[in-house]
Amino acid sequence: MAGEPAPGPAPRERSERLKLGVLALQGDVREHAAALRASGAAAVPVRRPEEIDDLDGIVIPGGESTTMSKLMVDFGVYEPLRKRVNDGMPAYGSCAGMILLATEILDGRPDQVSLGALDVTVRRNAFGRQVDSFEAPVTLDGDDFHAVFIRAPWVERVGDGVEVLGRVNAGPSEGRIVAVRQRNVLATAFHPELTGDRRVHRLFVDMARRAKSTED
Ligand code: GLN
Repeated sequence: MAGEPAPGPAPRERSERLKLGVLALQGDVREHAAALRASGAAAVPVRRPEEIDDLDGIVIPGGESTTMSKLMVDFGVYEPLRKRVNDGMPAYGSCAGMILLATEILDGRPDQVSLGALDVTVRRNAFGRQVDSFEAPVTLDGDDFHAVFIRAPWVERVGDGVEVLGRVNAGPSEGRIVAVRQRNVLATAFHPELTGDRRVHRLFVDMARRAKSTED
C-alpha cells in the first residue's frame, strides 16, 4: 500500500544470509559448525586467507593456542583475521580461542601471537596443568550453565568496556571469570559446543545478525 514502508526481511531470511566461519586449523570445528547451524546461521570451515573476506563472523575453537598461533601465521590467516576482527567483524573464541583474542596472555609462550581484539588478561592452563578436563557450574548472563573445561584459561583482568558474562559459581575456582564480551567479541573459557546447550552459540549468532543488520 502506498505510503507504507516496505516490509524488512523476515528474521529467518536474515539468518539464512548470515555466513559464519569456523577457524579450522585445530579443535572442535564440526561441533561448532553444527551448533551455529542449529542456531540459524550458515557455517563454513576457514583455512585460507581468501575464505575470510565474505564472512559475517568467525568462531575460533579450542585447541592449543601456541600451535594455533603458529598455524594461523603459517596459513596466512593471522593478518587478515586480525584486521577484520579489529575492524568489527564478530568473533567468538572458546578456550584457546579466548586466549587467541586476548590482548594479554599470562603463562603463554613468548612467540605466541594474539589477535588482540579483547581487552583482557588471560592465564593459560589456569585451573592447574594436572586438571585436564572437568565440569563446573557457571552463572552465564544470570542463568545456570553447565560448563566443560579442558586445560582452560581464566580471565584475570578485564579492561574498560569488557562485560563479564560468566563466572564459576561453586568449588575451588568460584568467582573466576570464564565468559566475557566486548563489542563484537565474545569469549568463553569453556566448551559449549560439547554439551548440546546452544545458548552461547545463539548469543553469538545474535551478535553477528545485529552487526550485519546495522551494516546493511
Ligand atoms: N591449554 C590450551 C592453550 O593454552 C587451551 C585448551 C583448550 O582450548 N581446550 O591453548
